[in-house]
Amino acid sequence: MDVINHDILIVGGGGAGLRAAIEISKSNPSLKTAVVSKVYPMRSHTVAAEGGSAAVLKEDDNHDLHAYDTVKGSDFLADQDAVEVFVRDATREVVQIERWGCPWNREEDGRIATRWFGGMSRKRTLHAADKTGFHLLHALFQTSLKYDTLMRYDEWFVAALLVDEGKLGGVLALDTRRGVFSILAAKAVILCTGGVGRMYAFTSNAGIKTGDGAALAYRAGAPIKDMEFIQFHPSGLLRTGILITEASRGEGGYLYNKDGKRFMENYAPSKMELAPRDIVSRSIIEEVLAGRGFEGPYGSYVQLDLRHLGEAKIMEKLPMVRELCLDFAGMDPVYEPIPIRPTMHYTMGGVHTDKDGKTPIAGLYAAGEGGCVSIHGANRLGSNSLTELLVFGARAGRSAAEYVPISKPCSSERLQSLAKREMDIIQKRYMQPGNGKEKAGAILADLRKTMDEKVGIYRTDDGLKDAVQIIQRLKERFTGIRITQQSKVFNTELTGAMELDNMLEIAHVIAMNARIRKESRGGHARKDFPKRDDEQFLHHSLVFKTPEGPKRETFPVTITKWKPEERKY
Ligand SMILES: Cc1cc2nc3c(=O)[nH]c(=O)nc-3n(C[C@H](O)[C@H](O)[C@H](O)COP(=O)(O)OP(=O)(O)OC[C@H]3O[C@@H](n4cnc5c(N)ncnc54)[C@H](O)[C@@H]3O)c2cc1C
Repeated sequence: MDVINHDILIVGGGGAGLRAAIEISKSNPSLKTAVVSKVYPMRSHTVAAEGGSAAVLKEDDNHDLHAYDTVKGSDFLADQDAVEVFVRDATREVVQIERWGCPWNREEDGRIATRWFGGMSRKRTLHAADKTGFHLLHALFQTSLKYDTLMRYDEWFVAALLVDEGKLGGVLALDTRRGVFSILAAKAVILCTGGVGRMYAFTSNAGIKTGDGAALAYRAGAPIKDMEFIQFHPSGLLRTGILITEASRGEGGYLYNKDGKRFMENYAPSKMELAPRDIVSRSIIEEVLAGRGFEGPYGSYVQLDLRHLGEAKIMEKLPMVRELCLDFAGMDPVYEPIPIRPTMHYTMGGVHTDKDGKTPIAGLYAAGEGGCVSIHGANRLGSNSLTELLVFGARAGRSAAEYVPISKPCSSERLQSLAKREMDIIQKRYMQPGNGKEKAGAILADLRKTMDEKVGIYRTDDGLKDAVQIIQRLKERFTGIRITQQSKVFNTELTGAMELDNMLEIAHVIAMNARIRKESRGGHARKDFPKRDDEQFLHHSLVFKTPEGPKRETFPVTITKWKPEERKY
């Protein structure tokens, strides 16, 4: 098999991946660095981010306040040392990204504008209208083009990590255009592969968010952390789950039940619509369960009303919200309230890393939504993720660039033998499925239904027990899948099967962890254990893959300044 040599490979061309790539290219241009991405970088999910990026800029704000809001938002599961690093680096990063071309909105007096976001005690969310992700990713992408030494493998799918005795040697990747597998050798690999949203049916996530990085790391022996914590965003557009940004509430939008009441009064009187997402999402479900939701052909919903903001403000601050409503719901938020219900949105867990993106495998790093430092704990505050991509993308890039000059590459023979082993698995599992009768699409539909119904906003022991069993059966069914597409060129049936395999692997861990965590914390709400239980569960979960199945360990939470307290808004 072809071997192409590099010093550092970054898997993922979203915000985290490109920020890491720039940092490496800037700090040590002599390193041979490449970004591998299964889609063209500008199609990464980061491009879809709407509302903004949080950082301390204004004089009424400070790093301790941002850190405390983040820790409280996380329901005290975030590592506070990591949060302190995050809020401090955040300020520098949002200024840096503007110098690279991100057009932040401005106040009248010319200073960078900020808006309110859920769970934040200050107005600290920088934004470029409601197309922040597009502008941020574009600024990173165009900056990355400056570096001649930075190579790209666009539309290459990473199928396995090649790890030799605990040390990273490279990846096995499929050039989807030619249908050819190659070894991309590297001393360090940074996984920036994003979240796992597509294992749910009702989600705001792009089609590429299939948990590949978590599955790659997990299979290679690295632990994945806190996977039970899934964020549901309160305002998914009815029918499609497309996101209506929290900025619409940040700019002053109201939530109404069918009695015309701003129901958040009953759940978070001090923050109202701007309580953190876990709380607002649960409140919507409670309203529906109490019979105060609207009913329609696409299920129950509540209304997000922007009419009082007026057309001028909507067009200036929320033009994409209007566009999405017109295109996907056939209604205009200038004149009508938007029908919404909670949509699966974000993966708090991911590949276990330290503050510099390091995993326990030498040479393997992770950053962005696919990594877990953890700064979000049990619930991420809106607008902390884009900033996280910048802060931890840069940190992972720096630490990989320092590691590479002092490490030795894996021999070519060894890489060939590791790759051969992986190719044999791929051949057997996906490409020669014998008489298999199973269709990947049918298994995926069953997985999504299971995750929506049993591993959603509210969870119970019975539901989670069922979910684990169903997922195990789906994994068995997967061994009988049949791929019918013969062409090697853009064989999306093959890549789809690999993605489904990844989702099944991770869904199993999510459901298992959720069942073991017999408490309610942040995004993980157990009907049968409605209280947070710090005595038994103030810890991270780490899960390792073993021949006997997933093995769970606990990992301490770092607490610096902020002792866990009751979380009220
Ligand atoms: C609709 C929407 C709106 C959002 N709005 C905001 C917001 O306003 N503020 C905020 O802070 N957060 C927001 N978020 C969250 C935030 O945008 C994401 O968490 C973040 O962009 C993830 O970035 P990333 O770099 O980790 O991964 P992504 O941008 O998801 O990129 C993942 C990359 O990995 C590559 N990849 C994955 N698997 C493979 C593989 N097997 N082989 C090769 N390449 C692979 C993909 O090609 C892609 O380039 C939003 C999310 C959504 C879905």
